Amino acid sequence: MIRVTENLRQVQARLQNAARVAGREASEIRLIAVSKRHPAAAVRAAAAAGQRDFGENFVAEGVAKIRDLGMPGLTWHYIGAIQSNKTRDIAAAFDWVHTIDRAKIARRLNDQRPDTLPPLEVCLQVNIDDEPQKAGVAPGAAAELAEVVAGLPRLSLRGLMCLPRPAGTVEAQRRPFAALRALFESLRDAHPGLDTLSMGMSDDLEAAVLEGATMVRVGTAIFGPRA
Ligand SMILES: *Cc1c(COP(=O)(O)O)cnc(C)c1O
Repeated sequence: MIRVTENLRQVQARLQNAARVAGREASEIRLIAVSKRHPAAAVRAAAAAGQRDFGENFVAEGVAKIRDLGMPGLTWHYIGAIQSNKTRDIAAAFDWVHTIDRAKIARRLNDQRPDTLPPLEVCLQVNIDDEPQKAGVAPGAAAELAEVVAGLPRLSLRGLMCLPRPAGTVEAQRRPFAALRALFESLRDAHPGLDTLSMGMSDDLEAAVLEGATMVRVGTAIFGPRA
């Protein structure tokens, strides 16, 4: 419990430092604590330390955790792969989805978002390095998918997300983030409401902040290694 609190402070300090170096306000950057494969008690400890945004990768685990915690005031982000048969549970349990990469999934989430909830906040996951077999829409197809998502009334298109391959230096880490940002800027002509760049994790959050991240998704640096 003390450990999570301390780790959170450290990550916040890293974000503040990175924001200063980038000439940005730390308040522009939202920290998502990725609690996948950590118990509800870890989320409780982070929430007690003031953390409000949490990310989950696995539908059954995330839905159970959200239900078991039953804590109002938390915002839940789905950041994992999406299978068609899981969209109903995602649409009912989460506030944000960062990993939309095809129209079929977007339409299902739109149709299944309960009327009692506000529109689902969504980002498109972009396969920014165009890696074969990797999740995400190809950069060249992102504009078309954004058009589809923007036309769905129960989804609110907020931005782009990427999960680049790990790189050894900050310079190498920055390249895919810069590419995502350039794509984001180009989409903003048609979609001026876009305001979210979800990029950066435990090992590369500084590079992401330098390239304009507005949300970073951090697991290990807050909760420790996963089981
Ligand atoms: C697991 C995961 C994270 C967090 O990764 P860490 O390296 O533990 O910070 C962020 N984003 C996605 C999509 C993930 O799957």
